[in-house]
Amino acid sequence: MTDASRMPDRVRLGAVADLDELCAFIGDCRRCRLAETRTTLVFGVGDPGADLLFIGEAPGKNEDLKGEPFVGAAGRLLDELLGSIGLHRSEVYIANVLKCRPPGNRDPQADEIETCTPFLAEQVRLIDPLVIATLGNFATRYVLGTDAGITRLRGRLFEVDGRRVVPIYHPAAALYSPDKRGVLFDDFRRLATVMQWAREGRPVAPTARLSAGHEDWLEVFADPSGGAERSAGEHEADAGEGAPADQQKLF
Ligand code: SF4
Repeated sequence: MTDASRMPDRVRLGAVADLDELCAFIGDCRRCRLAETRTTLVFGVGDPGADLLFIGEAPGKNEDLKGEPFVGAAGRLLDELLGSIGLHRSEVYIANVLKCRPPGNRDPQADEIETCTPFLAEQVRLIDPLVIATLGNFATRYVLGTDAGITRLRGRLFEVDGRRVVPIYHPAAALYSPDKRGVLFDDFRRLATVMQWAREGRPVAPTARLSAGHEDWLEVFADPSGGAERSAGEHEADAGEGAPADQQKLF
């Protein structure tokens, strides 16, 4: 009989049955350098069967201390945004690209993302959400497999492996740039509509529009690398956008 403890992570991850088992599997993870500086590994929180999964960047100072994602000022804004569409955080699931805090809240590094995201991919498989809302650059780039920035990608609806993906500014962005607060509330209102569509089983159509008045917002791309349809204003070159084909299917 094979000794499971000697199997590569990628093999054992596929055999994990639920989030509790995944959390136990990750354990006191020391697979990257962030283990040296974190206080608490932040696994994720919420309804394990949620239709809506939020993915943020990484734990901050408060999250690192409490072991829960989005508990500081950005978390309070996220709760407010959820409340604006009639949701409580217990009805969704919230996770991050990285499960441990980068020291000083620096950006996640590529090798840290590569090492940690198999756990996130497993969370996505187990939760099996209809819709993923990516909060900020790092989550959006990871899920869509693109180098494009959130400012360019927010306001669009994507589809990755049959899941709707809605890129949204990270709530922390509104703490530093108050002009983004209104954009966030607008995007959450649109997110609610995408949720409704997903629950109704409404197919994602390349020409879908949210409704009159939002023509500038909703375009559906089967190919997040930018190879699919674009609006008239999006044909200009965007240096750095695009992703290798093998990065386009993540889940
Ligand atoms: S960030 Fe991820 S890979 Fe690195 S120690 Fe934490 S859980 Fe492990």
